[in-house]
Amino acid sequence: MKIKSIETIQLKEFPLIIWVQINTDNGFTGLGETFFAPNAVSEIIHNILSPLLINNNPLDIENHWRNMFEMTNAFGYAGAEARAISAIDIALWDIAGQVAKQPIYNLLGGKCREKIRTYNTAGQYGENTDSIDAILSPVKLANSLMDEGINAMKWAYTDHFADQTRGNYISDEDLNLLVKPIKKIRKEIGYNFEIANDGHGRWNLSSAIKIGKALDQYNILWQEELIKPVNIENHIKLADEIESPVCVSERLISKYQFRDYLKNGAIEIVMPDLIWTGGITETKKISTLAETEQLPVAPHDMTGPVNIFACAHISMNIPNALIMETCRAFYNQNGWYNKIIDQNIEVKDGYLLAPKGFGLGTRLKKDIFNRDDIIYKITDFNSGHLHWGGFKSNLFEVVTKNGKKSVKRKL
Ligand SMILES: [Mg+2]
Repeated sequence: MKIKSIETIQLKEFPLIIWVQINTDNGFTGLGETFFAPNAVSEIIHNILSPLLINNNPLDIENHWRNMFEMTNAFGYAGAEARAISAIDIALWDIAGQVAKQPIYNLLGGKCREKIRTYNTAGQYGENTDSIDAILSPVKLANSLMDEGINAMKWAYTDHFADQTRGNYISDEDLNLLVKPIKKIRKEIGYNFEIANDGHGRWNLSSAIKIGKALDQYNILWQEELIKPVNIENHIKLADEIESPVCVSERLISKYQFRDYLKNGAIEIVMPDLIWTGGITETKKISTLAETEQLPVAPHDMTGPVNIFACAHISMNIPNALIMETCRAFYNQNGWYNKIIDQNIEVKDGYLLAPKGFGLGTRLKKDIFNRDDIIYKITDFNSGHLHWGGFKSNLFEVVTKNGKKSVKRKL
């Protein structure tokens, strides 16, 4: 079995997302996804990474990950390169599952659980107004989530206030204002509903400590990225100063960046983003590193429908999965996931159920390819995209045989 072609699919309606499909010569198609700057990701997939993959066995996932990482890590362990690797890695796992006729979690070592608890990040799509209700009608939002069996939520309560000072200072008046929605939930609903806060890395350390301490009395599920994960010492200080667990971070890319935070005690809840940090392969390793530090993992979401499936497989498999981020505005009946994928996730009584089917358990809907707003690219044996002029060009040569081009590895 060999990789025959690699496709990327973008839709103008969702301008931050890119899907990748990897096709094999015997008819399998693996699906992956990443989020942000999709044109940059597309360029890397088609012109930099495809020559490493095409004509090779898709099941050699570890080898492909290492080859892609070696090709791109001169530019840092992050950025569009890491996102492209993440999307491809997920597509390769999807193929592996389909070939083995198993869900991906069984290839990772099987299930530690049949379902994973979810929390709802307040989003917005169509008629859904969760993100507005999070501030203006917090009790209504909490009650409506509890009606569905979901008893935890996350919101970026501090973003608005950080914007006003670039996160350099928060006044007592603003602090009182930002605490209001949380206070209302605690007063009217009590403590059976859990609330996490996401600071999006916008604060300096002293403001973060002030916010963290002010919110501690409301029993916050975690404080996520009150400061940017660029300074381990400050995260240790933050964790020491506030009671709520410090959650780090969708902004850490690859096991190498997580390692230093983990071994220095700068993380209390580990939040890798699968489609940014290196895919399923890398997230499994990050989770194992977290396990050695006796730390829980809560995969990051709020991106696209393929990520949520990849997160689900990791969350079924790893022993230290805590909870999964989901957004009902996206996955519910009237959300946008149903426009993209043919099998949606199943959330029942606040728990996401193990995906069914082989591989990821979902596919892009066929009608996507008929949409007017599609941006579609394919690299295959004959595309002419295979001339690699960058690093390690000595590894490959383009061979023409019987009028057909293919890539041959020299080593
Ligand atoms: Mg976050």
